[in-house]
Amino acid sequence: MQDFVDFFTGLFSTDRWPPRWKCGYWSDFHGWLYIISDLLIWAAYFAIPLIIINYVTKRKSALKFNKAYIYFAGFILLCSSTHFLDAVMFWHPMYRLNALVRLITALVSLATVYHLIKILPQAFSQKTNLELEAEILRRKEAESKLVELTLQLQSKTIALTKSNEELEKFAAVASHDLKEPLRMVSGFMDLLNKKYSDKLDDTARKYIFYAKDGAVRMSALISELLAYAQLGFNKGEFEKVGIGEVINEIVALNKAAIEEKNAVILFNGLPDIVASRILIKLLFQNLINNALNYQKKDVSPVIKIICINEDLHWKFAVEDNGIGINNEYFTQIFELFRRIHAKEEFRGTGMGLATCKRIVEQHNGEIWLESEEGKGSTFYFTIKKQ
Ligand code: ADP
Repeated sequence: MQDFVDFFTGLFSTDRWPPRWKCGYWSDFHGWLYIISDLLIWAAYFAIPLIIINYVTKRKSALKFNKAYIYFAGFILLCSSTHFLDAVMFWHPMYRLNALVRLITALVSLATVYHLIKILPQAFSQKTNLELEAEILRRKEAESKLVELTLQLQSKTIALTKSNEELEKFAAVASHDLKEPLRMVSGFMDLLNKKYSDKLDDTARKYIFYAKDGAVRMSALISELLAYAQLGFNKGEFEKVGIGEVINEIVALNKAAIEEKNAVILFNGLPDIVASRILIKLLFQNLINNALNYQKKDVSPVIKIICINEDLHWKFAVEDNGIGINNEYFTQIFELFRRIHAKEEFRGTGMGLATCKRIVEQHNGEIWLESEEGKGSTFYFTIKKQ
C-alpha cells in the first residue's frame, strides 16, 4: 500500500534515479540517435491521430466505424507519448510517470483490439471500391435497358392508338354503309305497304311486316355492334359520377316502357363514384332494360338497385322479379350474341350482357348473377375505387 501511495505522490519525482545520460555509457552519437529517433516517432505518432480526428469530424455522417477510428487515434497518441517520455528521460528520469503512461497505453490498446475484433465481421461485409464500381456499372446498364424498353413501349402505344383510331373510323364507316341498304329495304317495304296495301292479301302484308321487322332488328344489331366495338377505345373520361342521377336519367329515357309495364324502380342513397359516365350509364341501361324485358306476363316489374361500400370496390346489385335464369346459363349469357330465349318470346340482340361485362372489366371489376327460374334475378357487379 505504501508503495502505491509513494508511487502516486512522487509521480513526477526524479530523485531516485540518475538521468539516462548518466545511466551506463552513452556516446553522444548513440544518445542523440536514441533521442532524435524517439522524437521523430513521437512527432509522426502525434500527427496521425490529428489527421484521423480531423477526417472523422468532417465525414462523420458518411463513416460507418467512427468509434474504431477514435480508439485507434487514442492508442497511437498514447504510443507517441511513451516515445516522448523516453527521450525526456535522458534529462528528467520520471520512471513513475513513464510506467503510468505505459499502463494507460496498454489498456487503450487492449480496448482497441477488442473493438476491432467486434467490428471485423461487419467490416468484411463492406463492399470494396471495386465491387461498388461494378455495382454502379450494373445499375447503369439496367437503367439504360429500362429507358430503352420505355421508349419501345411508348412507340408501341403510339402505334396502337393510331391503329385503334383507324379501327374506330372503319367501324363507324362500315356501320353507316351497312345501315344504308337496310334503310332502303325498310323504306321500300313501307312504300309497298302504303301504296299497294289494298291490292295485297293478308299473307303478303305479313311477309312485308317480317321483312321490315328484320331490317329494323338488323339496324339495331349494327348500332349495338358498333357501340360494343368502340368500347375498347372509347372509354370516355373517368370522372365523379352520381349513380342516383344516372338512374334518374335512365328512368326518364324509358318513361314510356316503364309506364306501359307499370314497373317500379327502387333505389336510394346510391353513391358518387369515379368512373366513365358514358359507360356506367350504358351498363345500368342494359341491366334495367333486361329487368324490364325478361318479365312474367301480367306481373308488374319491381326493380331494386342497391350499392354496398366495400374496402376496395363499390358492389352494386340490380334485382328483378322476372322470369329468372337457369343456373346452367350463368356464365354463357355474358358471351357475345348468347341468348337463351327465342326472339319471338323476348326481343334482343344478345349483346347487352357482353357489353356490361366489358364495361365492368374496364373498371377493374367483376360481374355475376344469382337467379332462380320463375322468381327473378339479381345481377351483381363491382367497380374498383379509384
Ligand atoms: P339480349 O337481352 O339482347 O338478348 P343480353 O346479353 O342482355 O342480350 O342477355 C342475354 C340473355 O340473358 C338474354 O337473352 C336473356 O335470355 C338472359 N337475361 C338477361 N337478363 C335477364 C334477366 N334480367 N332475367 C332473365 N333473363 C335474362
